[in-house]
Amino acid sequence: MRRLIVVAGLLLCFCAAHAAAPLAVTQFAPGIYVHRGHDDVATRENKGDIANVGFIIGRKCVAVIDTGGTLEEGRELRAAIRAVTPLPVCYVINTHMHPDHIFGNAAFTGDRPQFVGSAALGEAEASRADNYLRVLRRELGALADGSEIVPPTLAVDGTKKLDLGRRKLILRTWKTAHTNNDLTVYDEETGTLWLADLLFVKCIPVIDGSITGWLDDIATIRQMNPRRVVPGHGPIDTPWRTALNAEEAYLSHLAQDVRASIRRGETIQQAVDTIGGNERGKWLLFDLYHRRNVTAAYAELEWEQ
Ligand SMILES: [Zn+2]
Repeated sequence: MRRLIVVAGLLLCFCAAHAAAPLAVTQFAPGIYVHRGHDDVATRENKGDIANVGFIIGRKCVAVIDTGGTLEEGRELRAAIRAVTPLPVCYVINTHMHPDHIFGNAAFTGDRPQFVGSAALGEAEASRADNYLRVLRRELGALADGSEIVPPTLAVDGTKKLDLGRRKLILRTWKTAHTNNDLTVYDEETGTLWLADLLFVKCIPVIDGSITGWLDDIATIRQMNPRRVVPGHGPIDTPWRTALNAEEAYLSHLAQDVRASIRRGETIQQAVDTIGGNERGKWLLFDLYHRRNVTAAYAELEWEQ
């Protein structure tokens, strides 16, 4: 009996020691909390915490919007929710497939929420799962432990309303842009549009979908004219019209220059070597992603000639 008590005590200590510290969040609008990720790629120093993630609290339950880059970050996000409200988590919404937005999902499986994403998300994740996990282990080592893909259980194609209890969220899927499975969340109560990676602020936009689709989506976002916007990367206090204009300028100049390069009969390598160098000073992570963006734009736009 004494041994049992000791074992139970040890287990309690282990659980207490392992309890995740709450992720730092700020109240962005009433009932909307955002965690600012590091403006960087995933490293052991930042533990893969590079995306802006957060949650919205209704009268009945909570919706999580993106879960971070690892199981541990998901646990810390869950702890941040518990520090603010005892309400259950009823939805975990993933705005798209990228690792820094989805790998914390497993922290919420015990809450039995609906995992919500674009109708294209499940397939996109499944086809990249091995690669995403391999890269995560390579970049983060043991910090990646327990991180796994938890696929959507509720698919959105077009728009869908979720009710958090006298608080309605309108989810919407988009033309292929940042990825082919981009989804945004609009909170009617505060006029907040959670754009996630359809808007990069100060960090260079990354094209993993379609440059022309993204430019079309930007025009639609401007027409929607939300009161507030949450970007997927970068500061959350920059006026969104300023940030959206900067993103649009980068993408439209890139499309223009790539089209001109294709018309001149240049190779993809010549395009990569010559286009967009003057944008370097405007964006963080430029050297990591700009050449890849030129390559993606070239591969897309050569088919429209
Ligand atoms: Zn992304």
